Amino acid sequence: MRFAIATLGCKVNQYDSAMIEARLGALGMERGEFDQPADVYIVNTCTVTDRADAESLRLARRARRLNPDARVIMTGCLAQANPERLAQAREVDAVVGLGRPGDLEQAAAQRNSARVMVSNLRKERAAIELGAVALEGHTRAFLKVQEGCDQFCTFCIVPFSRGQSRSVAPRRIIEALDGLHDRGFREAILTGVHLGGYGGDLDPPVALEELLEMIAERSPIGRLRLSSIDPEELSDRAIAIVAASEKFCPHFHLPLQAGADEVLARMRRRYNADGYRERVERIVAAMPRAAIGADVIVGFPGESADHFNDSLRLVQSLPLAYLHVFPYSVRAGTTAAKFADRVAAGEIRRRAAVMREVGERQRAAFAARLVGSCVKVLLEDQVEGRLRGYSRNYVRVVADGPADLINSEVEVEGTSVAGAQLVGRIISPPHVARG
Ligand code: SF4
Repeated sequence: MRFAIATLGCKVNQYDSAMIEARLGALGMERGEFDQPADVYIVNTCTVTDRADAESLRLARRARRLNPDARVIMTGCLAQANPERLAQAREVDAVVGLGRPGDLEQAAAQRNSARVMVSNLRKERAAIELGAVALEGHTRAFLKVQEGCDQFCTFCIVPFSRGQSRSVAPRRIIEALDGLHDRGFREAILTGVHLGGYGGDLDPPVALEELLEMIAERSPIGRLRLSSIDPEELSDRAIAIVAASEKFCPHFHLPLQAGADEVLARMRRRYNADGYRERVERIVAAMPRAAIGADVIVGFPGESADHFNDSLRLVQSLPLAYLHVFPYSVRAGTTAAKFADRVAAGEIRRRAAVMREVGERQRAAFAARLVGSCVKVLLEDQVEGRLRGYSRNYVRVVADGPADLINSEVEVEGTSVAGAQLVGRIISPPHVARG
């Protein structure tokens, strides 16, 4: 039997798709491409915007056209949050919610499975399936250590679609890192839907800092990163652990979302602009070359021109390495969807363009700061004869060298920048530097 998966949305969904692929592969099913005929099509949906919902249904229709006899299964966040909507679609054979891998296998393998298999994740504490996933190549792996969220920011559907916060026990995380190391991975990224919520659900509870200490001490993998973590949840102690560890990379992704306190309060974020600034300054004081990235939402309901300018000013005044800019879009089912004072679509686009330009300038400026200094780069691939990889502080680096260096960490001296890429010369290992 051949199956194909289409994945919408964020890295967490990509992670889940890779887990589904591994499980169906273990059942003897063969993975095919989504635009080719297959026996089973799985759409791993996203529900971050109404547009993402529409795209999920479009993919289901496409699958049905490719093979009218195929099983078309919808899973992921939209399946979890709004199964009825998907189940109404003629093209869809089964809707499987999150955290139900057994049901997904059944839906894929059998024609007589239930049509809707979704439980209320806010009531049920579905276990997280732990497994590492290589998203590109076999150099860096993502390890999901936390799922769900209990925060209910007003723009976000995640607490409804992914349920309450659940964490993987530290012992299992260490075992997973051992396994990744044995499979040759050189870098692991610890991810979670709401990483700052890690450990509160464990019995006894485990603080994120305790986990970081344990990993810093016991991980056989020498390059580790944290994925996104909310600023108020990044403690001084966590910063100190990362700064003191040679394994943790000096790289943080701190969602900002807005730079005006009034907007942050309407978003139900739990920090203000000064608090955000203070966290960034604390990181930089401990790790002057740390990369700090931020998410920013522009055009949130009620965001005035002054509020937007506050966001711009804050972002420009901080040594941020990059921005991920999200034009606000209504997400049915969230509190913000009921807010009346919406910003016009054209104005949202304009603000997004302005903010993105600022982000691009900051990305280039951050790379330029590394010219003349040495960075450790994990080489991932070779494109047009040049080796490429990321520095520990998350700058894309290109350098000349032999392909057998891929999947190894080399030292590179930055010589120039091309856009936001650092161009450099490998200075270690020595035989490459000499040759
Ligand atoms: S903390 Fe993050 S995942 Fe949780 S509700 Fe807010 S934005 Fe969504």
